[in-house]
This record gives sequence, C-alpha cells and structure tokens, in this order.
Amino acid sequence: MAIEQSDESRTGSPPVAQPGGPLDPEERRAALDQIASEVRVCTRCRLWETRTNAVPGEGHADTEVVFVGEGPGQNEDVQGRPFVGAAGTFLTELVRSVGWRREEVFITNVVKCRPPGNRDPEPDEMSACAPYLKRQLAVLDPALVVTLGRFSLQTFMPGARIGAVHGTVRPAEPTAGAAHAHAYAMYHPAAAFRQQALRETLQVDMTGIPAALEAARRARPSEPAPDHTAPGPAARVLTAADHITRTPEPLENPVPAIAEMNDDQLSLFR
Ligand code: URA
Ligand code: SF4
Repeated sequence: MAIEQSDESRTGSPPVAQPGGPLDPEERRAALDQIASEVRVCTRCRLWETRTNAVPGEGHADTEVVFVGEGPGQNEDVQGRPFVGAAGTFLTELVRSVGWRREEVFITNVVKCRPPGNRDPEPDEMSACAPYLKRQLAVLDPALVVTLGRFSLQTFMPGARIGAVHGTVRPAEPTAGAAHAHAYAMYHPAAAFRQQALRETLQVDMTGIPAALEAARRARPSEPAPDHTAPGPAARVLTAADHITRTPEPLENPVPAIAEMNDDQLSLFR
C-alpha cells in the first residue's frame, strides 16, 4: 500500500500519541500481539467453526484513535485482516481524506470471526468476543473510538440512534473498555454502497474527526491512573525502582513564614 503523504496536507495533528501511560511502546505492541494470537485460535463461540481466519485487528500500537467495525466479511475472513474489501478501500480513503494514514490508527471489529453469509452477529457471539476488544482498548487506551455501524455504536453509545448521532462525539460507554475515550459515531462504510447519499454523509462526518480528537484529548485526565484490573500482559509488575523515594532538597531562598515577614514582604500579599 502506498503511504506517501506530505505532512502539509494534514488536518490537525497526527493521531499517534507520545508514549505515555503505564505501558511503553514495546510492551503495548507485545500485549496486542498476545491478544491477536489468542484470537486466532479462539473457540469461545460458534463463529470459529465457519471461519477461515480470525481477524484480530491491526494498526499502530501508540495510536490515539481506534475504528471499530462490526465483523469480518468475506475478504477479511480470507486474509485475516480487517477492512480489506470494498468497505475497507472506502474506509482507507476516508482516513486519507483528513491527511491521516491507515497505519496511524487501529482498526478492529466487535466480533473477530466472520458471521456466515455476513449475517448480523448474535448477542451471545458479541458477548463471547467482547473481552478481546476490551483488552485491546485497555492496552491502547485511546482518546477516540470511532464506531462504524450499529453494533459498534450500541457498544460505545448504548441506546443511541445512528440517524441522530452520526458525526457527533460523547464520552464512550465506560463498560466497553476504553476508560478515557470519547466515542464518535459514523455510519458503516458499506452503507455507502447501499445508499448513495450516505457516501457523502460519511465523507462529511469523517472531516469532523480531527476536531473530535482534539476535544477528546482535552477531556482526558492528564495522568490516567494505571489500570491494574487490565487482564494479562496489560498489567505491569512493579519493580524496586518504582518504590524509590527522594528526600526533598532544601530550598535556597525559603519563603519566610507570614509571622517572620517584614513590611515589604507582607505588602506582596496585600
Ligand atoms: N465490515 C466490517 O464491519 N468489518 C470489517 O473488517 C470489514 C467489513
Ligand atoms: Fe472467539 Fe470472537 Fe471468534 Fe467467537 S468471534 S470464536 S469469541 S474470536
């Protein structure tokens, strides 16, 4: 895939965070790889019986933006990668339209295996698969989750109607796993093939994403608390170095107590 793109064409800053939080970039990559290898051999719901390949998701381990679709289609099932068919080509185009690259975001789905004949995922399949998405989100700790289609929307904005909320941002449903994220609602890119008017709606809604990311960044706690409830490799074991405490250095010009101040010093407070 060609990824040449000049930085001048960008809208807003790139969606790749400075490394921060409890995991460093290598730990994040390793944790995502661990989840992916579990997904590839998963048999937690019936969808494993009909899949060719499970599709864990892919993207930048340090990204601030995660796109969540519904489930793999035929092309994704064959290749084991998300959004590589016609809907994927359109999604990649949409991401490029704001000057970002597909490789700078993370792309995954609510269910990781293809529902046969592209039928809707069943509730028990979605709940069986939910822990994988939650773990991916705990590792990535994104600022923004972009929902693609109604199953993803119901996960991050329960009860919302796509016709009313597309192109808008709000704090993500906390139980979905992205504890410090906002959710931004989009129609599913495949909807553009069924209804021509939605192609333009998707294009317009995409242009709102860089501003939604800025808003989501501002709303984040500056130092997210490490999530010690995150499963498996996301949890970091404290080492002796974490417990080193420092004796504060004495100040060179200590501020005198109020009672010891002369009139000049006191006047600063009046
Ligand atoms: N549609 C989805 O919802 N996800 C994919 O990965 C591809 C098509
Ligand atoms: Fe496992 Fe999810 Fe695939 Fe079901 S859809 S088999 S829970 S990875």
